[in-house]
Amino acid sequence: MIKYELSYWERETFFKNLDIAVIGSGIVGLAAAIHLKTLDPTLRVAVLERGPLPIGASTRNAGFACFGSMTELLDDLTSMSEDDVLAVVEKRWRGLQRLRALVGDAHLDFQMLGGYEMFTDEEEAIFQKCRAQISDFNQKIGKITGHPEAYKVVDERLPRFGFQGVRHLILNQAEGQVHTGKMMSALLKKALYDGIQIFNGIFVKDLKDSSQGVEIEMESGWTIRVPKVLVAVNGFAKRLLPQADVYPARNQVLVTQPVRGLAVEGCFHYDRGYFYFRNLDGRILLGGGRNLDLEKEKTDEFGSNALIRRALLKLLETVICPEQQVEIDAWWTGILGLGPVKKPIVEQVSPNVTVAVRLSGMGVAIGTLVGQEGAELVVKN
Ligand SMILES: Cc1cc2nc3c(=O)[nH]c(=O)nc-3n(C[C@H](O)[C@H](O)[C@H](O)COP(=O)(O)OP(=O)(O)OC[C@H]3O[C@@H](n4cnc5c(N)ncnc54)[C@H](O)[C@@H]3O)c2cc1C
Repeated sequence: MIKYELSYWERETFFKNLDIAVIGSGIVGLAAAIHLKTLDPTLRVAVLERGPLPIGASTRNAGFACFGSMTELLDDLTSMSEDDVLAVVEKRWRGLQRLRALVGDAHLDFQMLGGYEMFTDEEEAIFQKCRAQISDFNQKIGKITGHPEAYKVVDERLPRFGFQGVRHLILNQAEGQVHTGKMMSALLKKALYDGIQIFNGIFVKDLKDSSQGVEIEMESGWTIRVPKVLVAVNGFAKRLLPQADVYPARNQVLVTQPVRGLAVEGCFHYDRGYFYFRNLDGRILLGGGRNLDLEKEKTDEFGSNALIRRALLKLLETVICPEQQVEIDAWWTGILGLGPVKKPIVEQVSPNVTVAVRLSGMGVAIGTLVGQEGAELVVKN
């Protein structure tokens, strides 16, 4: 990082008289900044982002507009009470409605193609466990979503998709998909339209809160002072706030070249949601596998993991597209923010600093809501 002083002009023109600085321009930071301007249009809000683009999870995810596959929810029930699990489902559902209202379905390229959970030949027992719970899930989750029969077994669709070694499919009819790039582009445009300043290439190194406000120290050597700060850096939170109960988790993702005659349509979850894939522009986007190398993937550094990439390729070639020659167009990684419980942290950590982090891999669904909650807390305190 090149170090240089902030000139008088730069300081007085760009950073003077700010009311609130939001750190991080992911879905949470942008949603928070937009909501701050809704609460009070006179507020001078700036977003400080280290990357040329938001570079965490928001531009690198799978774009599932989902609120829980059956094995994921059953897995959650082993560590959370039923009330808490349903509260998270409700938050995801409400968050998705908020995202759609804020950005608009056309700008999201929102498509209600359903979410499927697939079970291989070896997973008969867990499938039967899920099947036995479908009516209970439909009744409880139906009260939240208004869909009385969201979950149902649709094994008859298997021949249509052409998978190999998959025995069962459970469909969640209330799940959809978004175009992640378009979503973030629309949020960035909205933020700029609302008069929010977005500064890229600003790596915040340290925050010092005092009665004069928050001193923000940047890696470039600059320091600015702002009355209030909202930290929305998700998986990178520990670097800025070592006490934050968040750890990073890297995810590997690939997208194929267009696949001729691709019949796969919808969002697919496999192995408790650790693996996921969907159709995208006539291609397959496939990601996950973090559970194969949990410790190594507890990192906020982008980079590949050969073991996981091999497993993803095997899944693609032997299960998802067994009959075709499929070429890979691109690989990338994204960083999640996880914690001991599947619940975001939205709280004031010092008189003038609030955090909104730990989206637990659900940020497309709950990001706008978490941003809104963070903004409200900043204004209240
Ligand atoms: C591969 C992958 C697939 C996913 N799929 C889905 C899905 O299908 N559905 C779903 O609901 N969720 C999904 N998620 C989760 C979702 O993308 C995240 O929960 C959400 O994007 C988090 O948003 P955020 O704004 O909190 O964090 P981020 O998007 O990570 O934004 C944080 C921002 O802070 C910036 N930053 C960090 N440190 C600093 C600093 N010191 N100074 C300045 N800037 C800083 C980063 O550059 C980044 O832009 C997925 C995540 C990944 C990684």
